[in-house]
Amino acid sequence: MNDVYCRVSRMPYHIRAFVMEDTEGDYTVTLNDHLSDEAMLKAAEHELSHIGEGDTRSEEHFSALENKR
Ligand SMILES: [Zn+2]
Repeated sequence: MNDVYCRVSRMPYHIRAFVMEDTEGDYTVTLNDHLSDEAMLKAAEHELSHIGEGDTRSEEHFSALENKR
């Protein structure tokens, strides 16, 4: 519970990364393998900010959340 897993997957270029919370309360951060190592680290930090702020449980629209992060 509240573990964070990180995986790298091939995705369309316009998606840098995303985070999902599972029913156990664990998180999986998925990073796009097209990113450079530096961009991947920044994307991971960004996704961790969503976890830290509880965004996966928010009822706000994702675009409103993105404007805050
Ligand atoms: Zn975001």
